[in-house]
Parts: sequence; structure tokens; C-alpha cells
Amino acid sequence: MTKSEAKNRITKLKQEIDIHRYNYHVLDKITLSEAALDGLKHELFVLEQSFPDLVTADSPTQRVGGKPLAKFKKVEHSKPMISLFDAFSETDIIDWEERYKNYAASIGLRLPKVEYYCELKLDGLAITLKYENGVLIEGATRGDGKIGEEVTQNIKTIDSIPLKLKAAIPGIIEVRGEAIMHKSVLEKLNKRYAKEGKPLLANTRNAAAGSIRQLDSKVTSSRHLDFYEYDLIAPAQSRLEADSICKSWGFKTVKYNKICTDLKEVFAFHHHWEKHRDQLDYNIDGVVVKINQLDLWDKLGIVGKAPRYAMAYKFAAEQAVTQINDIIWQVGRTGTLTPTAVLTPVSVGGATISRATLHNMDEIDRLGLKIGDTVVIERAGDVIPKVVKVLPNLRSGREKKVTAPQVCPICESPVRQVEGEVAYRCTNKKCYAVALRGLEHFVSKGAMDIDGLGPKIIEQLFNVGLIKDAADLYALRKSDLDNLERFAEKSADNLIQAISERKEIELGRFLYSLGILHIGEESARALAALVISRRLEKGKTLSVSELSRIISRLSAEELSEVADFGPVVSQSIYDWWHDEHSEKLLHKMESLGITLKIVLPKVSAKNNTIFTKSFVLTGSLTSLTRDEAKDKIRALGGKISESVSRLTDYVVAGDDPGSKYDKAKELGIKILNETEFINLIK
Ligand SMILES: [Zn+2]
Repeated sequence: MTKSEAKNRITKLKQEIDIHRYNYHVLDKITLSEAALDGLKHELFVLEQSFPDLVTADSPTQRVGGKPLAKFKKVEHSKPMISLFDAFSETDIIDWEERYKNYAASIGLRLPKVEYYCELKLDGLAITLKYENGVLIEGATRGDGKIGEEVTQNIKTIDSIPLKLKAAIPGIIEVRGEAIMHKSVLEKLNKRYAKEGKPLLANTRNAAAGSIRQLDSKVTSSRHLDFYEYDLIAPAQSRLEADSICKSWGFKTVKYNKICTDLKEVFAFHHHWEKHRDQLDYNIDGVVVKINQLDLWDKLGIVGKAPRYAMAYKFAAEQAVTQINDIIWQVGRTGTLTPTAVLTPVSVGGATISRATLHNMDEIDRLGLKIGDTVVIERAGDVIPKVVKVLPNLRSGREKKVTAPQVCPICESPVRQVEGEVAYRCTNKKCYAVALRGLEHFVSKGAMDIDGLGPKIIEQLFNVGLIKDAADLYALRKSDLDNLERFAEKSADNLIQAISERKEIELGRFLYSLGILHIGEESARALAALVISRRLEKGKTLSVSELSRIISRLSAEELSEVADFGPVVSQSIYDWWHDEHSEKLLHKMESLGITLKIVLPKVSAKNNTIFTKSFVLTGSLTSLTRDEAKDKIRALGGKISESVSRLTDYVVAGDDPGSKYDKAKELGIKILNETEFINLIK
């Protein structure tokens, strides 16, 4: 991104964030989910990190909270109520550790062994409480971080806020924490409100904020809020100690908070609570990771709006913001074309998502979606992620309108919209089946032989639009598979590994895998031999483009003459190699790293009895598989044939041989049992 593009984007992000923040903080109205808003803020933060001189004082990354409402008395905080930078991944946390360590080094601060105090991040309203000589004299909201709203009367109705500390503490101290509504309370209240026909509370966070930020303390009282401490402005050595001091004074502290000695423990704590948060009676949206040693807080200080000594390590949200890079159309079983959004990969609900379904053209119109748009995507459970909202304010002007394709992306047949239906369909009735069969053939044993790619997996990958043709297999990333059913982490790894191991593939197998009409394994090998004899460089590998060059220069007649193909086979090869579709496919394969291995027969005609001999296999062998037997024969320069004829040199008969055995007897062909065969190929 150029600087002027970044500047543009930053301006638009700031405006968009401000609109939704205002709605949320000032009007208590949710117009964009917290997670999506976090996504926008994160993008802004990352952009500002890359272009630090574009950071302005009014950037949402530099401010916290919202402006205090006029209806409340203003309170200037003795010490700003800062908010924290968000982290969404282990990488973000690792980067944070590196950042504060670098900063410490740059100011000549020698860090001791740093401990982390991990706290559950309660989802409510931040409150600061001021005590004078142990007596509560004031309660206030965060407001914009410097000036908050005075809500003393309201918070006095919260039972867990001590009006008088259990110890006689002279002078002024402040305790900060989160006012929350328990889930069970919300449920009870909503049941009652439903009966009374009152509007329901949207969620515990909104309910807590709304209960405090209103003028009638009787309402606050009726909401049964709770309060948990998370910061003490009074002398203490560590966060751990501050917690226990507050507890001894009569405050509630979160009992699960924990010291972690390194990031590994921090990650374990985070993962544990991400998994088990439903067991708590309050909502948490992450873990706050703080340096435990309080003397380091002042030394490390604040950068922008947030401190260097702590991070809000959020849980994976079900929504995220990302960009639409392209729309692809998948063909379904009935020929229906379904649009799928290709996204800039983004983490949602703990998985990296790079595709989202769009259902049909109507859905695209309803969303008003264009290619290049910034969108909110949602992934609930294991359902395929979907686009829920477009953010048109963030457009740059280069977005492209989405149109239904004129021709099928798989088979290039015309596409029609069925009358009275939303769906567009490929007019080729066999489209889906043919495409799937082609892919199954491509990965099959005799062809590319890719482990772990059964027909069901192929169909699944095809249906979600991850593969349209064979080349797409080589573009698969692990993150594409993470979100699919049936894919455990390990099987995803294994599959990607298996595919990449087949990037360098024996030429004959490759030619067979292309699924050219009438080209079986043997004719593919004959074609390979022809190619090998015609290549310019005598290396051990051949590029796909060199292969194309060699074959496409041969006429059907030449193919027929040189390789001894019949006219039908020759014409089929010729046609395939002079087709635009094939050309594109080969080009794509080459660009994805496929190269071809040249395997010459190891032994010459002089010292083996197999070279140029024709074999037919029948029955099952015990000491090796049929494919292994075939490979052996080919490696020694022999040929495999599927049927017995006068031209057959050997029939290898295993257990339970079929009719080929009888035919061989009838024609007087030499029959080898398994032992004889093994001796021959030794
Ligand atoms: Zn089609």
C-alpha cells in the first residue's frame, strides 16, 4: 500500500469507527458488533504502525471511551483511565513482549525476570471509586479516559462495592474495576420484563452500562449489578499484592486471576478460559495480560492511548472485518452456480477464513456487495462463514460490480438464469459430475497418487469452491482446510504435505492424470517416451511449458506415426493440446510449482529380459501390490497391457486369476506364477 492509499484508508477507517463508537458509547446503540469494530480498529492500528507520521491526535487509537453525557456531572480522573491495546493472536502477544523489551533497552532500563499477571477480562462498564479515609466519596465512569461521568449514587446501590473499607486507610485511594451484570441475573430480569411487556436487555454488557449511566438510582438498584476490582491506585509491589489488598478491604476480586512466568503459561491460561468461559456466570471477552511488577509500569509508561505494560488478549470473535478480493462461482450437483467470496484471510472464531458463501446473486444485491469491499463476516460454530454486512463508507472507488458469469467457470457452457428462480445454472447437465470425475481421476493411484484425497474430500473441496480444477489442489493452504468438516488439524497437515510431495511428478503419471480422452496409463507412457526423446535439455526434470511446447508442435498424423497411436488417440491428444482450457490449466500448474520427473528405464536391453516386453497381470499377488509390480516392470523398460493378445509376452498370474489366464493358455502365452515373476524382475 502506498502512503497516499494508506492515508485515504486511515481517514475512512477513522470516520467509520467514530460513527459506530458514538452510537455505542453515547447512544448505547449497537450498529456494528464489538468484534467487527475491533477489527476496524486493529486494521487502523496496524496501518498507523506502518505509517507512524499519519497518526493524528483524533485517531480512535489515541482515545478511549466516549464523551461524557451532558446529563452527568463531570469528574476529572486523578490518573487517566487508560484502555489497553488489543491482541488477537499469540503472535500479537509475542510482538508486544518484543516491543516493550526493545523499548526498555532503548531507554537503558534493565528488566528483571518479568512475571505476568493474567486476569479475566470482564465485559461490563469500567468504574473508578474514590475513598477518603476509607469512606467511598465518589464513583465515576471512564468517559473519555480523562473526564468521566459522576455516578456515585448509582454505584452505591451495588452491594459488592464497600461504602467503607474494612481497614482504616488514611488519605485518598482509588480502586478501579468492572461493574457487570451476571448472566443469571440478565436471564431472570428478561423473563420478568417479557411478562411485563417491557423491552428486553440486549446483553450483560449493555445492561450494566445502561443501568449505571442513567439518572434514577432505583433503576440501578433493581438491576443487581456486581463489581470486581482490577486496579488499585495506592502503594503495592505487584498486581498480585494489589489484588489481595483490595480483597482484604472488602472488594471482590476475580479468583481465577493467575501469575504466569512466561508467555507459554499465558497462552495456556488464555486457551483454557476461551474454552471454559461458558462455565462462568459472567461474560468475559479475553484475558488481560499485565506485567506483575508494578514498579515497571511507570518506567515503561504509555504509548499513544495505552500502556506498554499490559495487553487485552481477546478471545476469538465470531465476527471479523476483511476485504473481498474476488468472487468465484462454484457449480453444484444440479448445475447451480453459487457465488463464493474470496477474502483476505482473517481469523474468526479461532480459525483462519479465506472464503465465505454468498448463496446467490440476490444475496449479493441485498448486501450491495462489490469486489474490493470491506465486509463484516461471521462464523458461528462450524457453519460455513458468511458475509453479514458491507461497509460502503470504506470504499476507495476502485470496487467492481459483481455480475453473474455468462459461461460456466468449469466447462465453459452457457449459463442461464432459470425463469422464476434466483439461481443461475450451467446448461451442461453433466458439468458437475464430469468435473468431479476429472478431479478423482487426477489424484487416483495410477495418476498423481495423492494420499488422503478420496472422492468425498474432493467433492467437499469442490463444493466449497476451494478447487475448480486439478491445479487448484496445489494452491491449497492449511488455513483453507481448518474450517472444513472432517478436517482435524493433523489430517489437514497430512493432505497439504501429500499434495506438495507430488509437485514433482513422473512425466508418464502426469500425462495420464490429465484425463485426456482415450489416454490410458500405457498410452500416457508411450507419449512420455516420445516427449523424452524430443526434449532439448537432457536433464532429470522437464518443465510443464517445455512439455507443452513439444507436444503442441506435433500434428495428429505425426503423433500417430511416431508413437504408434491409432488415429482416434492421436486426434484426442492433438485436440487436448490445442484447447484454450488446457493451456490455462497447464500454465496454472506450472505457476504453482509442478515439475516433471524424467525416469528412464534403468537397465538396457542387453542385460534384461523385460525391456520392451509386454506384460498382463491377473489375480492378486501376495508379496507386492499390483501397482508395485507395474512400477517394477516399467522401471525395467517393460510395458503393461490390460488385455491378453498375441502380442503379449508374459501373463503374470497371482491368486484367483481371471479370464485373462484362460486366454493366455488358449493363445499359448508364457504364464508366470508369482515366484517366477519375482525372479524375473530381481
Ligand atoms: Zn458447466
